[in-house]
Amino acid sequence: KDDIQDNDYFATYNHYDIHKEMLQDTVRTESYLKTIKENVDIFRNKIILDVGCGTGILSMACIKYGHAKMVIAVDMSDMIYDAMAIAKENNIDESKIVFIHGRIEDVKLPVDKVDIIVSEWMGYFLLFECMLESIIFARNAYLDKETGLVLPDDFSIHLSGFHSDSLHHEHIGYWSDVYGFEMNTVAKNILADGHVMIVPAEDIMTSDCCIKTLDIYTCSNDDITFTRPFTLEALKSSTISGFVCHFDVNFAKNLMEKVHFSTSPRSPGTHWKQTVFFLPRLYNVQEGEEIHGKITCQRHPHEKRGLIIHLHVFDSKFKFYLE
Ligand code: SAH
Repeated sequence: KDDIQDNDYFATYNHYDIHKEMLQDTVRTESYLKTIKENVDIFRNKIILDVGCGTGILSMACIKYGHAKMVIAVDMSDMIYDAMAIAKENNIDESKIVFIHGRIEDVKLPVDKVDIIVSEWMGYFLLFECMLESIIFARNAYLDKETGLVLPDDFSIHLSGFHSDSLHHEHIGYWSDVYGFEMNTVAKNILADGHVMIVPAEDIMTSDCCIKTLDIYTCSNDDITFTRPFTLEALKSSTISGFVCHFDVNFAKNLMEKVHFSTSPRSPGTHWKQTVFFLPRLYNVQEGEEIHGKITCQRHPHEKRGLIIHLHVFDSKFKFYLE
């Protein structure tokens, strides 16, 4: 069953649309390019492993802008065949780039150790898809422990409360009157899911609380499971429709020029948008009031790459699925 699920997962990356969506996310793609261009002395003459190369954009940039000695570009999806042709099309020196079709966990690399691992593995809510495990695998198996770099390297997930009648109506309220029929059965199921959508910055009603930090050099697969208490302060008196999560990404350790981007509602939009958990009941809060709660993230027992998020707030418990 695991294999069938994973085949489905990699098959999603066989399509051009998903790669276009990622490439067109300029916040995402330009952060990687900027890191390479502004830290040329770090990349120059290095051996680089690109875990999940997709179109090969990051691999080509490491050679063209970073002057890497060699890039090993690995991807399990069929997109890698396009990446090979794209590298040719751009006259990338064939002696500097090696493409390997397969799962990073299964393939044999032409070298024992690499100097830098570069990867864009982040999913919704940062951890959805659990591709983090593949980066941890690559780090443990191939990174030079003394001097090696993994980019990006530092991450955090944040939570805040929001109010939006329009988002609540669009996703939940809609089902209470569908051509005169009640379909609250559907609303109930939808309430149990985490939702990916853009939350306007002005809808944020509370302070922001960091619920998770991740250091790529020290993290392990256990980091996907965590529990954190949180405290949010209501910035104004309002009703809370639910909670919204975003994550921040840093290219930081041992770089000359650090690069940062955020998927916050207050930052320019990315294809990750935000992840929303609607509350089944609306809650009124007064300005200055503190909301105390606890969030738990666990692996989904049946969906290999899914997550289960528990939110414990206002003395109520809610369970959400990211599948
Ligand atoms: N680096 C590209 C694509 C990023 S998307 C870019 O920045 O545009 C992530 C890619 O990783 C997908 O193409 C997916 O097929 C690949 N991938 C995910 N897990 C993998 C694994 N374990 N082994 C090899 N490739 C993997």
